[in-house]
Amino acid sequence: MGDTIAAIATGGSVSAIGIVRISGEGAIEAAEKTFRAADGTKLADAENRRMYYGELIDADGGLIDLCLCVISRGPGSYTGEDTVELHCHGSPVVLSETMRVLFSNGVRQARAGEFTKRAFLNGRMDLTQAEAVIDLIESEAPAAAKNAAGQLRGAIRQRMDAVYETLLDTVAHFHAVVDYPDEEIDDFIMQEYQSTLRSAQEELMRMLASHERGRVLRNGLPTAIIGRPNTGKSSLLNALLGYDRAIVTEYPGTTRDTVEEKILFGGLMLRLIDTAGLRKTRSSVEQLGVERTLSALRCAGLVLLVIDGSEPLQEEDFDAMRQIPPDAKIIAVVNKSDLPSVLSTDDFERLGVRHCSVSALTGAGFETLDAEVKKMFPEMGTSPSGEIITNARQAEAISSAIESVSLAREALSAFVTPDAVLTDIELALAAIGEVTGKTMREDVISRIFERFCVGK
Ligand code: GDP
Repeated sequence: MGDTIAAIATGGSVSAIGIVRISGEGAIEAAEKTFRAADGTKLADAENRRMYYGELIDADGGLIDLCLCVISRGPGSYTGEDTVELHCHGSPVVLSETMRVLFSNGVRQARAGEFTKRAFLNGRMDLTQAEAVIDLIESEAPAAAKNAAGQLRGAIRQRMDAVYETLLDTVAHFHAVVDYPDEEIDDFIMQEYQSTLRSAQEELMRMLASHERGRVLRNGLPTAIIGRPNTGKSSLLNALLGYDRAIVTEYPGTTRDTVEEKILFGGLMLRLIDTAGLRKTRSSVEQLGVERTLSALRCAGLVLLVIDGSEPLQEEDFDAMRQIPPDAKIIAVVNKSDLPSVLSTDDFERLGVRHCSVSALTGAGFETLDAEVKKMFPEMGTSPSGEIITNARQAEAISSAIESVSLAREALSAFVTPDAVLTDIELALAAIGEVTGKTMREDVISRIFERFCVGK
């Protein structure tokens, strides 16, 4: 490692405060060359984690900015190394000028995620905590942020470490069996092994089971709006987007007919898929849109089937309904409630799904729709505190750990050779080690941190 890195931690846009972060053996020395504390304190003698007011000076002694400087000495800092932060005015010019002076003092530009990578390599956090940092930064919904914050505090790490320790104990005992094959292991001990492995497997399975929710937490619940033409699908989409001001992302579609928008609604993040492309068409471009829409519909976890409440049900309404995948949850959104309704209880029975009246035009009924969505996904309503696995890499490693523990249990029941049991438990340990980063290849680690932004 050795070298000293720096980055603008607060992004490149104009803001009130901009922070330049420096980390490495030479951090304090490099900062000393550009920062002069107003009270004359040398940074080498400065108190840990105390803000010093002073001047930032360029190589010719010219003033760059008036700023605050704080030192956090290793190994107790974020990265585990000596770290300096310069809290300047958030002018891109000031910040880049400060960086230029630092570069001339032997500091180099930090790569994406390099501060957190150093924190991980210096044992300040495990890989699940490091990944939680990026998840927290990128989180688009309050629940996702809460979950990431819990993981940053070590929610997954603690559970994984507990399973790891148990399996390690079992391996240690088992080694004794392999090393002293003449020693009999009695039934009692065998049962203990079995129950330890079963508990480990159950705990891993509980964690893996949360990944389903984790995917929704991270990416949003794919939600398709479908219905025959003119029922008000586009109006509903627009009204939904207007209903909740917390629109988080907007994806222009890859074809003219597929657009995705994320909104917070019904206590969760919905990834709304506009399905304007479902209508029959001869145009090949539009046909492509229809196919994309159909494939989006196949992945939908929630379908909003839009019905025009001011007109009798039509065969096309049922055609739209037939497009819905069997395992999707459906709400019939009976639109145009501002007009006299012609639909009867019989009609709703024919539809055979939950329904909710709204007016995309006036915004009436949206609270009820919100409540309906909440009722359909009650498990999403609870606020997670880090127990939900949102990360596909972690889920994959946990899944292979489960597989290995299960094989170890089978080998133990059959008791073919102790070696077989050992090999499987050791594979499970390696898989758990991948989750927390105990056993990871350098190239995989680099790949993980490339997802980060510069300065984190
Ligand atoms: P789509 O083809 O299903 O996307 O339907 P649109 O959103 O384009 O709406 C079709 C027509 O219905 C338009 O003229 C809208 O102004 C009208 N419309 C949509 N929602 C409402 C509503 O809640 N009340 C009334 N009265 N008209 C609506």
